[in-house]
Amino acid sequence: MKVLAYRGPGSLVVEERPQPHPGRGEALLQVDACSICGTDVRIANGSHRAYADALGRVPGHEVVGTVVEVGEGAPAATGENVFVAPNYGCGHCAACLLGQVNMCEQPRGIGITEDGGFAEYLLLPKDLVDQGNLLPFNASANAGASASASAGASPGTGEGTSVGLDVGAVALAEPLACALRGSRACRIGAGDVVLVYGAGPVGLFHLALARLAGAGAVVVCEPNPERRRRALSWGATSAHDADFDELRAALASAGAPNGANAVIVAAPVPAAQAQALELAGPWGRVNFFAGLARGHSRAELDTNLIHYKELVVTGTTASTNEECRDALNLIVEGRVDAGSLVEARFDLASAAAAFELAASGKAMKVLVAP
Ligand SMILES: [Zn+2]
Ligand SMILES: [Zn+2]
Repeated sequence: MKVLAYRGPGSLVVEERPQPHPGRGEALLQVDACSICGTDVRIANGSHRAYADALGRVPGHEVVGTVVEVGEGAPAATGENVFVAPNYGCGHCAACLLGQVNMCEQPRGIGITEDGGFAEYLLLPKDLVDQGNLLPFNASANAGASASASAGASPGTGEGTSVGLDVGAVALAEPLACALRGSRACRIGAGDVVLVYGAGPVGLFHLALARLAGAGAVVVCEPNPERRRRALSWGATSAHDADFDELRAALASAGAPNGANAVIVAAPVPAAQAQALELAGPWGRVNFFAGLARGHSRAELDTNLIHYKELVVTGTTASTNEECRDALNLIVEGRVDAGSLVEARFDLASAAAAFELAASGKAMKVLVAP
């Protein structure tokens, strides 16, 4: 089988390997699609901690596929379409016992600490299978607008046109699950005015989730005009460049003259974190969704804004199986239009071009479909 292996900074190489067979408790997945995440781009250029001594490891943690072989005792069935929740844990620390595997003391992840989905086949470890990370779904479901031909022309949420599910787009349940975790930390409710920094795939997911949670208005801050246009087509009330006064005016005209009820920073920009505290209203909930680059994670924040406005400032990272399951359902039911974010598909042999496009930021989401 072909895999895409990490061979050092700047070097991902297509290699031939023997096809594995599942042992006791394991399962073998035929990969249908694996989408490229910002994390994968960091892995490729050698700046991911988990890959410091990982020569030969296969990245890819946004994986959808078909179970083709099941080891003795594994709770899985051949022929099942599954999305793989990528994070699993030791199974016995305090976080694992709470189901918060993303916070495990010894976290493991497909494509991060273990081989991942940029491969024709993926052997799923026993612990991952045991912990319920294989999430089956109905591939013949009718997902609203998931195969929208004109990218960006369809809204991010809603009924859509009833077309067959785009199985590749199901891989996006992983970033959607992460967004769901951040969105829930902001406890968005009916009528809330929400401010979202960033309109990349994850920023758009936050926008869609805020709408689904009943937000009355969602104001988006994004420097790229094409992405601002996309945010408007996904239901943003208005979209702006990072100008403070303009954003404040936009929140006021959206019904929040004292600031937003919730602010999500889905852009790795320290200045946006500082501005988020300024533009949050009294009792506002703030989520620092995007991590900052290592070595550049010190931001100057006016903490009196937290004190006097009684803000709740949260951080979230990765996702749990439960969030993955919910995100999967949102995509399969067509309530979040992940399909329209998939702007390019490559086979494994052309993975270099796929990574180049993903790193350029010119495409929302790039899929590798072996
Ligand atoms: Zn990801
Ligand atoms: Zn644990």
